[in-house]
Amino acid sequence: FGEVPTGFPEPGKTTIYDDSDTIDLENVPLQGGFLVKTLVLSIDPYLRGKMRDPDVKSYSAAFIKGEPLHNFGVGVVLRSENSSVKAGDHVYGVFTFQEYFVAPKFEGFRILANEEKIPWSVYVGVAGMPGQTAYYAWKEYAAAKKGEVAFVSAGAGPVGSFVIQLAKAQGLKVIASAGSEEKVNFMKSIGADVVFNYKTQNTAEVLAKEGPVNVYWDNVGGETFDAALQHAANEARFLECGMISGYNGQAPPVKNLMYIVSKQLKIYGFLVFALSAKYEDEFYKVVPRQIANGEIKYTEDIKNGLQYAGHAIYEVQAGKNKGKSVILVAEE
Ligand code: NDP
Repeated sequence: FGEVPTGFPEPGKTTIYDDSDTIDLENVPLQGGFLVKTLVLSIDPYLRGKMRDPDVKSYSAAFIKGEPLHNFGVGVVLRSENSSVKAGDHVYGVFTFQEYFVAPKFEGFRILANEEKIPWSVYVGVAGMPGQTAYYAWKEYAAAKKGEVAFVSAGAGPVGSFVIQLAKAQGLKVIASAGSEEKVNFMKSIGADVVFNYKTQNTAEVLAKEGPVNVYWDNVGGETFDAALQHAANEARFLECGMISGYNGQAPPVKNLMYIVSKQLKIYGFLVFALSAKYEDEFYKVVPRQIANGEIKYTEDIKNGLQYAGHAIYEVQAGKNKGKSVILVAEE
């Protein structure tokens, strides 16, 4: 990690690629831990929130200047002195952005048996933290009924695209927005009924025509949240998942807050980790199998090599990623 950005993160300044370090794979001391070869790393919107002054407290620790970034990854264990994991196991957890690293303890990691033989990259996407976010919170808060109307913003990403499919599976009419024609086409291909590009079509106008909205899945905040408040049905549920329109600058003030009162809206803010204990086992039983069967569809935007991590981080914030953003660090 380099300097805390004021606006969008800048590769080479906010994040710096450094290949000067070497590791002796045969002899590096493990001290009761295990040595991992990184295969894939996830690039997620919340990483922007970790690029801040470390004195400012938040739900996820700040990146420290001069230290490697960290986020979810999948890797293969090369050596282990820990009884919970052995050489050859594939593990999922929070990785440092390095080709190899020694994990001091097993806590926080999960062994992936991957009987379904889905690509490892999917375990940081729809079968990983973003998929869990969609699955857990939809089950916990949507209270969806057949025939209702759902609206999903940032509907082409790993969270939004899974939400669209969950809503369709329950018989809702789904309106979904994203920022390019390619993303709009993808949302249509996975079953969304009404799709639009929020950069060329006015969100409030679309919702006025196609709403009112019973369930709003908010990935973006700002003007889109405002439009959803305006066109919400009475007693609509708002699943406040993220507000990316304000991550790299100030989103405009929300004008329609009074509708929360007058329409008796239910607003649920959540963090995926808080719902893990309730849904994680079920998720791993159900979702990888559905992905393998083709019941759940996804897209990925894979960059080949750790040197592109900074670019990928920028692209996710700027909406230039074309699907779940993943860094392929190494093949098996
Ligand atoms: P995506 O892969 O969809 O990437 C984020 C997308 O947000 C961009 O591609 C871009 O797409 C869109 N975006 C960026 N800026 C704006 C803007 N100003 N207005 C509207 N859309 C914008 O991300 P994920 O699916 O991984 O995550 C989606 C959301 O879920 C994020 O807000 C994230 O922070 C949140 N999240 C929350 C979790 C929780 O526990 N609460 C856990 C995981 C994710 P476009 O081309 O459409 O503009």
